[in-house]
Amino acid sequence: MTTINIKSASREDLVDITREVADAIPPDGDGVAVLFTQHTTCGLTINENADPDVRHDILLFLKNTIPQFYDGFRHFEHNSDAHLKASLMGSSVIVPFENGKLLLGTWQGVYLCEFDGPRTRSVIVKILR
Ligand code: ZN
Repeated sequence: MTTINIKSASREDLVDITREVADAIPPDGDGVAVLFTQHTTCGLTINENADPDVRHDILLFLKNTIPQFYDGFRHFEHNSDAHLKASLMGSSVIVPFENGKLLLGTWQGVYLCEFDGPRTRSVIVKILR
């Protein structure tokens, strides 16, 4: 098991961790990398890494759809929006690899989805072969 530590830069942020994931897999192996985060206000996803506007638009849509302050939210930390967004994105992704290379599509990257930063997050990488 490997742990990737990531520093997010703002309350909401999509941090590209593709390189860190690539570094966590065996250099010549075949298998599957299971990425899992133990946090409750961040998630993981795979999406486009070519046009940064895609990241912007994902965050904008989530922010507009799930506002931080919503009439009726009761959670005392006032970050229920972050918990909701984290559940929508999910706390794990699976990436297959072959000959030490991630089998991501040309335009795909792996992202940590920060919804209650900035702070340091960790992602567990478990290799199954
Ligand atoms: Zn909370």
